[in-house]
Amino acid sequence: MTIMSLQSIGWNERFESAFAPHRGQGLEPARVVREERGRYLLLCDDRESAGELAGRLRHEARSRADLPAVGDWVAVRPGPSLAVIVGILPRSSAFLRKVAGEEAAEQVVAANVDTVFLMTGLDGDFNARRLERYLTAAWDSGAVPVVVLNKLDLAEDGDARIAEVEALAMGTPVVAVSALERRGLDGLLPWLAPGRTVALLGSSGVGKSTLVNALLGEERQATGAVREDDSRGRHTTTHRELVPLPGGALLLDTPGMRELQLWGDEAGLEEAFADIAALASSCRFRDCSHAGEPECAVRAAVAGGALDEGRLASWHKLQRELRRLATRQDARARAAEQARWKEITRSMKHHPKAGRWR
Ligand code: GDP
Ligand code: ZN
Repeated sequence: MTIMSLQSIGWNERFESAFAPHRGQGLEPARVVREERGRYLLLCDDRESAGELAGRLRHEARSRADLPAVGDWVAVRPGPSLAVIVGILPRSSAFLRKVAGEEAAEQVVAANVDTVFLMTGLDGDFNARRLERYLTAAWDSGAVPVVVLNKLDLAEDGDARIAEVEALAMGTPVVAVSALERRGLDGLLPWLAPGRTVALLGSSGVGKSTLVNALLGEERQATGAVREDDSRGRHTTTHRELVPLPGGALLLDTPGMRELQLWGDEAGLEEAFADIAALASSCRFRDCSHAGEPECAVRAAVAGGALDEGRLASWHKLQRELRRLATRQDARARAAEQARWKEITRSMKHHPKAGRWR
């Protein structure tokens, strides 16, 4: 792969100024194109290079979200065979997910994505609630969402569905395509300019691989097959996860993106449910939970038919999930803080100079 310039792999003025302090220290910027169990594949200027974390970066990381992820821009010290990653530049966007298990540990599955294509099928698989969930995740990430309605060729009431989605997406662009027949793909071009990073989000079977193949103009991915088993750290795919598309954009395609779980704060929920947020400002209580409080404008809108009951139920469900997650995060943060103080107290006791104070 030949890379003409940093710009062609997503570098911009924002990253340039973030990198300024590292200039003149023998460091170079590089972008992470793949990560597997602590081993990184990096793109630096015009070449690929293997990379590993500087010990300090690893030790100072408070969570896995502080470690480099695919799409990240990092500062590296070049070496003969291995570049050493010494820092991560601030992310313009990040998709996070829970690390497997109950623990509220977060992991970045994609960094510095400009646009995320939220894919849903126009066939029987269509699910408005799922789309709301993806919109929430997108707004939380900092990436700009675009709704891609796939399988236009199978749609029976395509126009009605498109109108329904446009109402739901509230200003988010909606593009209908047939990835299989390669129809409507021109509608995606505004977000596929050179150096722009895009990612795909959507449930299994919606046609993500088919769209990737259509965009690549080749059969890169086996469609419809099980491709990886992330839970056991086993990957049958060996491809780069940040892939240059023929038009110059970069496609970020990690296994984690495929199974993104809701993670984030309630700000994303407000964006995705702007209609409920607007109604809520007329509720009698400022912290109204729209669960039976008196003079609730949201419930009144449901009763009057202005707001879909299913949409409010979906909002309640997402709200509950976010609250549960926040509680676990708080508990975990408190435990980590206590452990840290215990450690500091212990090291003070064992420090040779500590005795002088007694
Ligand atoms: P993924 O799991 O999201 O990657 O979905 P795939 O790309 O593997 O597609 C799942 C199935 O849907 C495959 O059998 C595809 O051929 C089919 N498919 C994908 N896009 C379209 C489309 O636009 N129209 C139709 N009719 N089928 C499609
Ligand atoms: Zn209310």
